[in-house]
Amino acid sequence: MVVVGAGMAGVQTAVALREQGYEGPVTLLGAEPHPPYDRPPLSKAVLLGTAQGSAFDVDFEGLGIGLRLGVAVTGVRPGAHLVDTDAGPVPYTALVLATGAEPLALPGTQDHPAVHLLRTLDDATRLRPVLADRRTVVVVGAGWIGAEFATAAREAGCHVTVVEAAERPLAGALPAEAAEPMAAWYAEQAVELLTGVAVSRVEDHGVRLADGRLLPADAVVVGIGARPATGFLAGSGIALDAHGAVLADGLLRASVPDVYAVGDCASFPSARYGRRLLVHHWDNALQGPRTVAAALTGQEPAPYDPVPYFWSEQFGRFVQYAGHHAPEDLLVHRGDPHAAAWSLCWLSPAGALRAVLTVGRPRDLTQGRKLIASGAPLAPPRVADPPVPLKST
Ligand code: FAD
Repeated sequence: MVVVGAGMAGVQTAVALREQGYEGPVTLLGAEPHPPYDRPPLSKAVLLGTAQGSAFDVDFEGLGIGLRLGVAVTGVRPGAHLVDTDAGPVPYTALVLATGAEPLALPGTQDHPAVHLLRTLDDATRLRPVLADRRTVVVVGAGWIGAEFATAAREAGCHVTVVEAAERPLAGALPAEAAEPMAAWYAEQAVELLTGVAVSRVEDHGVRLADGRLLPADAVVVGIGARPATGFLAGSGIALDAHGAVLADGLLRASVPDVYAVGDCASFPSARYGRRLLVHHWDNALQGPRTVAAALTGQEPAPYDPVPYFWSEQFGRFVQYAGHHAPEDLLVHRGDPHAAAWSLCWLSPAGALRAVLTVGRPRDLTQGRKLIASGAPLAPPRVADPPVPLKST
């Protein structure tokens, strides 16, 4: 078995193969030179220097996993059952693609020394002196990464301005009712949030906005999204979806025999939500590998159809989200969104809980996640009453 990509999904796949009884050779190929590590701490403790790293606590040698670091896969030849790497071809019986995602760059700034992305340990290491020296920073994009970086940078004492092209933070992920209260969190921490304005270019001493303003900056951090890292699959015959993710089926199989895909690089059909999902969150990279390993060890698993889950730590809040909401869902407030703790619930037209967003209410998340999985109907007035536990009618 060959697994490409030594991030969360690749490591979990290799480990799950062993846990599920596979005794043959497992090779894990990773482009980065570092021992495999977890990404969420990069925008939190690693950035602040309160943790040196976030390497996974996995005994690869003891598990008989052949870890090859600093090896980038450059192509796949499914007919020949070979992957091409910059260190030569590697044969496979079964191949698992777990190459994750790569951050989008701000056009024209790729080689600018003051412009940073935040995806890898090397990115976080490059950014640490910016925080340690309390520099003036402009963050481009008020998404999850932008908010977490801004939080850490303020904690370190940096002067931080966040520029967002949309009218509110997280516009691509959450509706206005959910995201608008979050805009106030920036001001609370003395982070200036400029919305509805695009960045025109990065100049020597700052960021020029489309409206002509110049924001002084020692460093610019770009958090404007990520796309599946699948460029090396061009010409392989492995089908991709419109977002460039590997088009996987319910067992996370790609469109050619003996190839699977999991984590940030793959989309899969969800019967639960009636659509294909591309999930760029940690829990998906933890859960998906179990299905892949079960399928590869001949166990006929149920189709992979999780209730997606993620968390974010920003501006002193613990934000969690489970499920997947749709425009036709009824949005029910659970508590005042301008208070310290509140939740939002999305109910399907049939009254089932489809998604829940919680701020400082972890119990709502735990209860909501179970209810989403069960599909049981809920009464909106009870949902709207914060002291009443979330449970079906
Ligand atoms: P990745 O972790 O990206 O791993 C893929 C690996 O494949 C990489 O090491 C890459 O170098 C390697 N690779 C790529 N191409 C090749 C190739 N051609 N050949 C060989 N190797 C290759 N999610 C949450 O739910 N909560 C959070 O708080 C949270 N915080 C985050 C903070 C940061 C800074 C980042 C970047 C992400 C965060 N996430 C969070 C998202 C979460 O970390 C990802 O969803 C998860 O890492 C996905 O795992 P993956 O293994 O699919 O991809």
